[in-house]
Amino acid sequence: MGTGVIVKALVTGGAGFIGSHLCDLLLAKDRQVICADNFYTGSEENIRHLLGNPNFELLRHDITVPLEVETDEIFNLACPASPVHYQRIPIETTRTCVYGAINMLDLACASGARILQASTSEVYGDPQVHPQTEAYWGHVNPIGPRSCYDEGKRCAEALFFDYWRQSKLPIKVLRIFNTYGPRMHPSDGRVVSNFIVQALRNDPITIYGDGSHTRSFCYVDDLVDAMVRMMATPDDFVGPLNVGNPSEVTILELAELVLGIVGGKSKIEFKPLPQDDPQQRQPDIDLARSTLDWSPRVALEDGLGETVRYFRRLINGN
Ligand code: NAD
Ligand code: UDP
Repeated sequence: MGTGVIVKALVTGGAGFIGSHLCDLLLAKDRQVICADNFYTGSEENIRHLLGNPNFELLRHDITVPLEVETDEIFNLACPASPVHYQRIPIETTRTCVYGAINMLDLACASGARILQASTSEVYGDPQVHPQTEAYWGHVNPIGPRSCYDEGKRCAEALFFDYWRQSKLPIKVLRIFNTYGPRMHPSDGRVVSNFIVQALRNDPITIYGDGSHTRSFCYVDDLVDAMVRMMATPDDFVGPLNVGNPSEVTILELAELVLGIVGGKSKIEFKPLPQDDPQQRQPDIDLARSTLDWSPRVALEDGLGETVRYFRRLINGN
């Protein structure tokens, strides 16, 4: 930063997939980082390389409980993100989204910190507008199996904007689209990790539905770069802001890409599509391009290659 002032950043969910990459980037940018995580889906393996770093502190903490620390920036990422995991503990998921948001917003008020919310494209639900712009209000089933996450994140956004309106808190709301990369958990349940792990084990590749539904996948390095840029925007820019990679693929195309990179003998197996699974998703990132001077750099083939290398080492030890 060049000012000699040490910025303290709190990353909730910092032992998770995205959070651990964010901790790496913040430390590289000379922050002091506190990582708070309850290890529901996170892993100490993701942050083991940081444990000896004097600028890094790990707190085993559940954000549904208030937290008192000194911090200048809060990145609120704590929340299970995979449908398999959040649907296993739906009430705790809503509690994390809502009580967790209130606790972190209160902490931001008490410590004079800026606060960024890791919101999600799931606030758009099964979208009827394509691609999705920030102006779209979404199409969400409020009582379905995904609603603990979708409505939890929507409520968190409402809380962020109420704290901003009522308490003038400097907030930043990022709507993150599907992100992938090294340090996803091998049994995370999301499509990229599932397909890669299945291909490496020569197990069937499980496509839910007929494979025609779409997603747009962003490599994690691109995402955390956008998160740090968003935190650095002026106080009057609060979002919501879409971040993701707009290149959209069908799930069948993704399976074929993964099979092409991994090789092996896996066959494709079609399984029933889960309830309320969004049919298509693609971010409109015009606002991110203009306000953050950012756009994703890593092509899907390259990011998948890196991710395959990570899982190959993890699974086969080579
Ligand atoms: P992840 O499951 O790997 O990480 C979530 C982390 O939060 C884990 O380390 C978990 O242990 C921790 N956590 C969960 N509940 C907690 C609680 N109550 N208190 C403290 N820690 C808790 O998932 P991820 O993909 O790294 O997602 C991180 C954030 O980004 C989440 O908020 C998610 O909603 C958001 N997001 C992710 C994606 C994506 O595609 N990966 C897309 C949109 C939004
Ligand atoms: N999916 C799939 N096979 C899997 C896991 C997921 O076909 O083994 C599909 C899932 O039904 C969805 C898409 O891939 O249509 C993305 O799923 P993921 O859980 O990764 O993210 P989300 O649905 O939250 O976007």
